[in-house]
Amino acid sequence: MALRTSQLGYPRIGEQREWKRTLEAYWKGERSKERFYEEMKQIRLSHLQKQRDAHVDYIPVGDFSFYDHVLDTALMFNVIPERFAKSPADPLDTYFAMARGSDDGEACEMTKWFDTNYHYIVPEFHRSWVPKVTTNYILQAYEEAKKELGIEAKPVLVGPFTFLKLSKGYTDNEFPQLAEKLVPLYEQVISELYHAGASLIQLDEPSLVTTLSEGDIEQLKGIYRELAEKLPEVSLLLQTYFGSIDHFEQIVSLPVKGIGLDFIHDKGVNLQAIKAHGFPEDKLLGAGIIDGRNIWKTDVRDTLSLLTELQEVVPSEHLLVQPSSSLLHVPVTLKYETKLDQELLNGLAYAEEKLYELHLLKTISNHPTDEAAKQTFEEYQQSVDTFKQAPFRKLTDISTDSDLPTERTHTYEERQGLQEKKWHLPFLPTTTIGSFPQTSDVKRTRTEWRRGELDDDTYDTFVKGKIEKWITIQEEVGLDVLVHGEFERNDMVEYFGEKLNGFAVTQNGWVQSYGSRCVKPPVVYGNVSFEKPMTVKETEFAQSLTKKPVKGMLTGPVTILNWSFVRNDIPNRDVTRQIAKALVEEVKALEQAGIEMIQMDEPALREGLPLKKHEQQTYLDWAVEAFRLATAQVKPTTQIHTHMCYCEFHDIIDSIKALDADVISIETSRSHGELIETFKTNVYDKGIGLGVYDIHSPQIPNVEKMLNVIKQALNVLPAQAFWVNPDCGLKTRTEEQTIAALKNMVTATKKVREEW
Ligand code: GLN
Ligand code: ZN
Repeated sequence: MALRTSQLGYPRIGEQREWKRTLEAYWKGERSKERFYEEMKQIRLSHLQKQRDAHVDYIPVGDFSFYDHVLDTALMFNVIPERFAKSPADPLDTYFAMARGSDDGEACEMTKWFDTNYHYIVPEFHRSWVPKVTTNYILQAYEEAKKELGIEAKPVLVGPFTFLKLSKGYTDNEFPQLAEKLVPLYEQVISELYHAGASLIQLDEPSLVTTLSEGDIEQLKGIYRELAEKLPEVSLLLQTYFGSIDHFEQIVSLPVKGIGLDFIHDKGVNLQAIKAHGFPEDKLLGAGIIDGRNIWKTDVRDTLSLLTELQEVVPSEHLLVQPSSSLLHVPVTLKYETKLDQELLNGLAYAEEKLYELHLLKTISNHPTDEAAKQTFEEYQQSVDTFKQAPFRKLTDISTDSDLPTERTHTYEERQGLQEKKWHLPFLPTTTIGSFPQTSDVKRTRTEWRRGELDDDTYDTFVKGKIEKWITIQEEVGLDVLVHGEFERNDMVEYFGEKLNGFAVTQNGWVQSYGSRCVKPPVVYGNVSFEKPMTVKETEFAQSLTKKPVKGMLTGPVTILNWSFVRNDIPNRDVTRQIAKALVEEVKALEQAGIEMIQMDEPALREGLPLKKHEQQTYLDWAVEAFRLATAQVKPTTQIHTHMCYCEFHDIIDSIKALDADVISIETSRSHGELIETFKTNVYDKGIGLGVYDIHSPQIPNVEKMLNVIKQALNVLPAQAFWVNPDCGLKTRTEEQTIAALKNMVTATKKVREEW
């Protein structure tokens, strides 16, 4: 028998983001529930159909979601916070309430899915959790695929170990008890799938690529032993991704039918382990040999040799060739990329093209002497080689720039004194994170301008009008440090990608970030450098309208890196340094234009953190170095701000301090005060603003609540360095929501000022 192909997950958003449109239309009340379900079904089925057309042998179900698959899993197991379980509601309403908040309570916490820019909803266990299966939605998806398309799909679930690891609401030593209650629910779901005909069921356990303790491994073994005992007849495939596994022998000997490993992001470790220890004869190996997280074409020649190496250990009939992870993290199809240079296009592969690569590899591997297969394969490789040899891939030497300063001329204490004199800010200065609502007229006007339907002057005038309007609003609301509002920006990374050398911007390279929010990461394909000022015009204009300081808004080098699709032929550190050097020029240009408060956002600093503990410090060191490189050359009176959102900080707090930013603003509202706990044990002595309300929720925060957040924070942070701000940019909110929320925020601040 020959090797087969398998798929771990397909992008949800649809070729032209029809999924997003349906979802948002439903939220706005423009779709009935019935129509919503029907449209979603059509999208879901079309994805299965596409994978069948691409000859995928194992097509997944359970990967599709209305919001997030971890949330789906939580709901399936009745892990519903008490605040949403009170009144009997339609399950779909509960679902979106958990995701987005409702009158019943705040949304559940949302956080990064491993080291990706996808966010999942954190399941919350609580004392009165009643373990039960509400609806086996994976069974529904499985049966739908069979009934509607005749597809015998492979159900995919978040595995029990990972599900618990990603959840909150319990302490480490409660893990075993919870597992004991949860595993029977998995048994029920899996057994139903098995009896419906599923021949292979995949359990995703990406937590296995993080650093695990011996205790963790024992838990894992316990869980899988239990599953095997209760479900001896079921074929389970335990799937890992996003890196290598540390406990190779113990994991591959778990009592399951197959093990899925990542051979792309494993730094060669999984391959070495398989060569050194072999692989159980009776097991399937899901071999992730196509990058599920990047958009570069696969070097099929190299990959074929990797496959041959694997075949020396694992017989072909036990091999499933697959992407290294779900394709959720890459755009759907290159079909709509009509504007990219052919030279660059040569090097790209989105989800659809990756499925083509899978089939190509399967065909050549199963029919090595077939002339037609050989020719197709060679032609494909030819395009990869052409790309590799393109002139823009030649490296610039970065070894000579080590003398650039990464240290500011004055210490923080010295700067603080100088800055106080220069800025005269009130106690508890209020500000925002940068963007104001990207209302439909803003988006429409930008699109018209891009299409050439509006000339530059008209567009500039429009943007200026918005800036003027919002400077007035900010003054009326009574904020202390203003922003220009980022109306000219589509996205905080793409905007810079369009203006820096070495970047390309795609037309349709969308990926899901959280909920219906999609991002379109730019592509770093060559050497990055500064061309001309990128933000000076708008900021300078905003400053000319007010006596209050206007912060310049830049995106930091690490975030630009982490939110781009980055060339993989040179180290990320080198790319980041190139970006930082380009930003130095922008910072200088802002200073020269009289903008002397500059915020350099680094919301993605933490998400780039390697999943393995022993690799983290190296990353943090070069990430911090890049930020410092970008910001070190300013005057001591110039105030450098930075902003981060949705992160856990306790483990990287030293690196955050090492950024040496004069002011940092971070999220706290949605992680329910956990961050405040962090500061009880960690002294933070520079300027800091803790987000006092959640901008991701349409709810308008009331004065009382923000007052409490501020007071709580002041218990653990030095009052004189404390700033008040929302927890992130306001671009997704409406104008009314924004103004109302900011007014309340200023009122709350004034109350604290009076009482203090
Ligand atoms: N300055 C950006 C904004 O306000 C920051 C966004 C972010 O942190 N993700 O939109
Ligand atoms: Zn943010």
